Amino acid sequence: METILSVSHLTKKFGHLTAVNDLSFTIEKGNVYGILGPNGSGKSTTLGIVLNVVNKTSGTFDWFNGSVSTHEALKKVGAIIERPNFYPYMTAVQNLKLVCKIKNVSTDKIEEKLDMVGLLDRKNSKFQTYSLGMKQRLAIASALLNDPEILILDEPTNGLDPQGIHQIRQIIKEIASQGTTILLASHLLDEVEKVCSHVVILRKGEKLYSGPVDGMLGSHGFFELKTSDLKAL
Ligand code: ADP
Ligand code: MG
Repeated sequence: METILSVSHLTKKFGHLTAVNDLSFTIEKGNVYGILGPNGSGKSTTLGIVLNVVNKTSGTFDWFNGSVSTHEALKKVGAIIERPNFYPYMTAVQNLKLVCKIKNVSTDKIEEKLDMVGLLDRKNSKFQTYSLGMKQRLAIASALLNDPEILILDEPTNGLDPQGIHQIRQIIKEIASQGTTILLASHLLDEVEKVCSHVVILRKGEKLYSGPVDGMLGSHGFFELKTSDLKAL
C-alpha cells in the first residue's frame, strides 16, 4: 500500500472552539475516502489544514510519506473546496487555458478533461450560460488539469438537482476507476455510501469511526455508537 496522506493527532482551535480534536487517519492510494459528519463537525477545517489554507493548532500531517515538502506535494493534489469561480464571459476552454497558465501546466489535456466531465460539446459556451452542475463539472475538469494523484472535494453535490447530483457522483467514480485517489467531505450518509470505499466519521471535530464503508454499518462500526452520536448524523 502506498500512503498518500497521513494525519496524526490533528487539532484546530478557533478561540475556545475546538473544530478538530486529536484527529488521526490515513489515505491510501487508489481508494475513495469520505469524511462524513453533520454541518460544523470539522470536515472543511480538516481539508483546509491539509491543503495549507488553515493553520493547525497541533498535530501533524504528511503528504506522500513526507518524501517532499508540503508545497511540492500540493502540486500533485487537485482540490475544489469553494464554489466554482471562473470568468463569466469566457468560454470553458478559455477559462481552463487561464488555469493552465496560472498552474504552469500544459494546455494539452484541456479537451480530455472536458470530455471526462461530459462538457466537451459545450467547451465553447460561456461560463455564465452553464448550470450549477456544469459549473461544478468544469471545476472538476480544472482540478484534474495537472493529473493529480488525489482529488479533494468539499461537499461536491451541494445545491445541485437530482440529475446534477447523479452526474457528479458518476464522474467521481469514473475518475477513481482510472486510479486517482479521492477524498471528499459530505454531510450526506447516502453520498458516502454510494461513492466511497472508506470513511472517516466526524462529530464535533472528533473521529467516531474510520474504516471501510461496509464496516460502518456493521457490528464493529456505526451501530455500536451511542444513540446520541447517531442522531447527529
Ligand atoms: P464542516 O465543514 O463539517 O461543516 P467546519 O470545519 O466548517 O465544519 O467547521 C467546524 C467548526 O469550526 C464549526 O463550529 C465552525 O463554526 C467553526 N469554524 C470554522 N471556520 C472558522 C473560522 N474561520 N473562525 C471561527 N470558527 C470557525
Ligand atoms: Mg464544510
